[in-house]
Amino acid sequence: MMAICDFSTNMNVSARSHRPWLDDLNLAQREAVQALEGPVLVLSGAGTGKTRVLTARLAELVATDTAKPWNILAVTFTNKAAREMKMRVANMVGPMAEQVWLGTFHALAARMLRRHADLVGLKPDFTILDVDDQTRLLKQMIEAKDLDAKRWPARMLGGVISRWKDRGLTPDKVGAAEAGDVANGRIREIYVDYQARLLALNAVDFGDLLLHVLTILQTHPDVLAKYQARITHVMVDEYQDTNVAQYLWLRLLTGTRHNLCCVGDDDQSIYGWRGAEVGNILKFESDFAGTKTVRLEENYRSTGHILAAASAVIAHNETRLGKTLFTAAEEGEKLRVNGYWDGADEARTVSSQIERMMEEGGDLSQIAVLVRAGFQTREFEERFIAIGLPYRVVGAKFYERAEIRDAIAYFRLIAQPADDLAFERIVNLPKRGLGAASLQAIHIQARASQKPLMAAAFDLIETDELRPAARTSLTEFIRDVKRWRDAVASMHHADLAKMVLDESGYTRMWQVDKLPDAEGRLENLTELVNAMQEFDSLAGFLEHIALVMDGDTEAENGEVTLMTLHAAKGLEFDTIFMPGWEEGIFPSQRTIDENGAVGLEEERRLAYVGITRARKLVHISYAGSRRIHGQWQSAIPSRFLQELPSDSIIEDNVQGMQAMGGGFGRATPAELADASHFGGTSGYGPGWRRMAARQQQASDPSFIAQDSGTVFAIGDRVFHQKFGMGNVINVDGDKLEIAFDRAGHKKVVSGFVSKP
Ligand code: ATP
Ligand code: MG
Repeated sequence: MMAICDFSTNMNVSARSHRPWLDDLNLAQREAVQALEGPVLVLSGAGTGKTRVLTARLAELVATDTAKPWNILAVTFTNKAAREMKMRVANMVGPMAEQVWLGTFHALAARMLRRHADLVGLKPDFTILDVDDQTRLLKQMIEAKDLDAKRWPARMLGGVISRWKDRGLTPDKVGAAEAGDVANGRIREIYVDYQARLLALNAVDFGDLLLHVLTILQTHPDVLAKYQARITHVMVDEYQDTNVAQYLWLRLLTGTRHNLCCVGDDDQSIYGWRGAEVGNILKFESDFAGTKTVRLEENYRSTGHILAAASAVIAHNETRLGKTLFTAAEEGEKLRVNGYWDGADEARTVSSQIERMMEEGGDLSQIAVLVRAGFQTREFEERFIAIGLPYRVVGAKFYERAEIRDAIAYFRLIAQPADDLAFERIVNLPKRGLGAASLQAIHIQARASQKPLMAAAFDLIETDELRPAARTSLTEFIRDVKRWRDAVASMHHADLAKMVLDESGYTRMWQVDKLPDAEGRLENLTELVNAMQEFDSLAGFLEHIALVMDGDTEAENGEVTLMTLHAAKGLEFDTIFMPGWEEGIFPSQRTIDENGAVGLEEERRLAYVGITRARKLVHISYAGSRRIHGQWQSAIPSRFLQELPSDSIIEDNVQGMQAMGGGFGRATPAELADASHFGGTSGYGPGWRRMAARQQQASDPSFIAQDSGTVFAIGDRVFHQKFGMGNVINVDGDKLEIAFDRAGHKKVVSGFVSKP
């Protein structure tokens, strides 16, 4: 048998045999794939096959027996990319692909840290905290130190500490000048205390994953030597977005061997705000003597117009290497640039365009809506729900929702009773009569006995410290947690999860909640239990959660993808919609305020990343006005629109938009700086505000309620803004029971539905 998976048993045959991953590669790509020893740098524009080169090179390393799978460490930027690469390599070399060290920096570091946790004072089952937990912890410390929490918000201090961690700085390495007067000059002290507190909790934050591993490798030469002997080849995707800590880690692992292959694109460096150093890629050649540098110039992803537009925009950046990019593909369709009245109009029209593409046989999974900031997805989500368009949101969104965090806190506490943050979050959720006084008593007990809160609570119920009602309630809670913990071994974790949510009263809390979003929260909880089915164990699931918290989710077929531009890096779709190209949103005002020209260039790189995600079609849009905090505000089209080459775009402003100054093209930089240019009614023409107001009413359910005196009967076909189409199955005065096509049975007041 000459099957590809025979590599392990018969290397010579396989090395000589046909290697299909080399077939389509162009000469430059092949050169990079076959340079198997020494430092290799592929520095090239978007869509030139960098990721493909890495994948092929991984197969080549194994196929030629240059390295065993377990000798290779490959770093991807997202969990999704890691899964994709693993799948592709498995197709190439068979099941051996499983043994490659493949994942994100975070995932790989977590794996290493679990092995050597004791070397930094942790236990192997440490918890990985998310930003929320981190912030809560810091808040407590800020209060304890009597610092002004308004002046020094926990989130900000968390940011300062995280940036230090990104730079590989443990508390002892932070210089006084570095700390400045942050937190009245006490930030270093807070950092020290924070790290101590994390250790006591047997917890780490994201930055710690790498920082601890760095410390271990730097202070335990034996451990380092083992890794250096084991990992002979290192590969990194999206190298332009690595931070200093990651760089140091890579340097240590590659040792003197320098078998390091990095690919990246300086024009796609978009994580400067999170500590990424584009300098890492720019100094690669001087860092690693004898580097073989390969430049790829042919873009295989996009049409001519898309590439021309992306190239023209990025050409406005001054700090860049500059690259040639060409495509053999046809010119394709020009980019569409549309102006809309307001955000709702934009969401509505984009949704209709997507629907039309569907009717013409389009594939939803090949369409993505890319936004600058997370909040922008909401308007689209609502619209997609209303018209029943299947969609998914990529990013931490789902797991960031409060009910999901609460549920996970329950699971964390079961898996790890010393998880104080989880304990605090849910001990009185739903309300169990354990108020501030009870919590304080538990805290005092914990401090005195140096025990985790759960253990301290256990001690406390033996005393008469607590009021009888609180004591009974706490006793029950502890007993429940213990029972659930005992069930971990015998029950499937998804069943256990459902049981925990039911028995704790958490599910019920939302069932009796009268707020309109309670229903959605219950659906989220069900979905959470569904999600758990895909994992082997509770621990596996929690590990996954911790890692996806700042990342991406599994791709599904047949859904439109909604995500941020940041999350889209490395991905590709046939059609890309980019709404919200308005000054302040994109480019982001905050980035410009904080980082000036440097920030603006990073925003422009985001535009470049966004445009180059598309294979065939790009729709860019902006709205004339947005409602912010209930107030209508006029918006100015993004300056990036003016940087699009007119030969490659079709501008299509909605009726009346021209009146606001002839479309976006006419605004001068001076006008852009002056927000009043489009302000007031004069610029938009007299009808504009009335129009906006009318649209505002049309999308507001309470408006429909006032307006409708419609009488309904059983069997009527009706439409609801949130639940979509359905049939009336019961009428009780003005209360209707409706079987919605998608949302199931619901009771709804008649004023909220209409006959289509
Ligand atoms: P980005 O900078 O966006 O991460 P990239 O440089 O990593 O892009 P890839 O994602 O590897 O580019 O490749 C872009 C697309 O081009 C993919 O669909 C890939 O399969 C295809 N491609 C790459 N090289 C070739 C080739 N030699 N022949 C045909 N298609 C190719
Ligand atoms: Mg790539």
